[in-house]
Amino acid sequence: MLIVMDRKATDEQVQQVVNIIESRGFKARPIPGGDRVSIGILNNQGPVDAGLFLGLPGVKEAIPVTRPYKLVSREIKPEDTLIQVGKVTIGNGHLTIMGGPCAIESETQAMTIAEKVKEAGGHIFRGGAFKPRTSPYTFQGMGLDGLKIMAKVRETYDLPVVTEAMDTETFDMVEEYADIVQIGTRNMQNFSLLKRAGRCKRPVMLKRGMSATLDEWLMAAEYVMAGGNTNVILCERGVRTFVRHSRNTLDLSVVPVVLKESHLPIIIDPSHAAGKRDQVIPLSRASVAVGAHGLMVEVHHEPENAMSDGAQSLYPDQFKQLCDYARRVRAILEEAKPKEE
Ligand code: PEP
Ligand code: MN
Repeated sequence: MLIVMDRKATDEQVQQVVNIIESRGFKARPIPGGDRVSIGILNNQGPVDAGLFLGLPGVKEAIPVTRPYKLVSREIKPEDTLIQVGKVTIGNGHLTIMGGPCAIESETQAMTIAEKVKEAGGHIFRGGAFKPRTSPYTFQGMGLDGLKIMAKVRETYDLPVVTEAMDTETFDMVEEYADIVQIGTRNMQNFSLLKRAGRCKRPVMLKRGMSATLDEWLMAAEYVMAGGNTNVILCERGVRTFVRHSRNTLDLSVVPVVLKESHLPIIIDPSHAAGKRDQVIPLSRASVAVGAHGLMVEVHHEPENAMSDGAQSLYPDQFKQLCDYARRVRAILEEAKPKEE
C-alpha cells in the first residue's frame, strides 16, 4: 500500500502515518518525487486495511500496490527515475552509451580503448576487473590492479566507469573505484550480494539472469532498493534459448513491459546477447528503437588477441558507427513522436 499525503501535510502528520505503520510491525518507506510526500508500506504479508489511514489529517489517498515488487514498481513511483553519474544522466529522455573491453588486460589496452570510446562519443567506460568465467582455467581478471587502471581511465578521459562486483568479499573494493557497480547475470539471484548492493553508495546496474523471468529480475532489483539504494539500472543481456545462431537471445520484448512496470532505467547489452560482432550494431539499433535508455557494448582495439569475449567485441571504428546509428535512431524517434495538443 502507498499512502499519499496531501501537498500541505505537516511533518507531524507524516510522522503519525509512519507511527501507525510501524506499530503494526511493518516498515514505512518515504518515497521521493513530486511535490508531496508518499509513504510506502513494506514487509506486510497480506493486504493492509486502508481504513487505518483514510480520514487521518494530511492523508490524501491510500493506493493498494498489487505487484510483488513494490519500490521498483510504477504503482509506488509513477515518474521515471533518473540516475546521475558525474555529468551523465541515465534514464528517460537520455541515451547513454557505455563501451569498453570485456576485461581490463593492461593499462595500455584500457587507455587505448578508452580513448576510442571517448572519441566516438561514448559516455561511460566499461571493463571487468573481476571476471565471472565459465572455466576456472581461463583469465579471471586483474582484480585490484584492474580497478586502479579504471580509475586512471576516469581521470584521463573524464569518463565514469562501470565494473562488476562478483562477491561480497570484494564489494568494498569495487565500490571504492567504480562509478557504477555491475551485478552480472550469474549473480542476479545472489541474495547476499544484492543485500550488499542495497547498502552501496554507488548506482548499481543489475543484469538480468540468463534464465530469469521479468518478475524474478524485478524482485532482485527490489532487494537492492529495499536495502536503501534507489539508484538501480536494469540491464537486459540476452536469455538462454534453444538457438545456435547467437550466444543468447536478446529479449527486446521485455523492454516495453519493463517501461510499463517500473520507473527504473533500462540499458541493453547486445554484445553478450549476440556473442558475435556482426550482430551487435543491428541489435543496438533495435534496442534504441524499442525504447531502451542506453547501450552497453564491448569494444577492443585488437579483439583477436582479447583475453575474453573477443568474438563479440567491436573494433573502435564499428563502435563509432554504432554511436552514430544509435543517435540517429533516437533522433528519428523524437521526430516521429506524436505532437502533444
Ligand atoms: C560482462 O558484462 O562482462 C559480463 C560478464 O556480462 P554477463 O554477466 O551479462 O555475462
Ligand atoms: Mn564479456
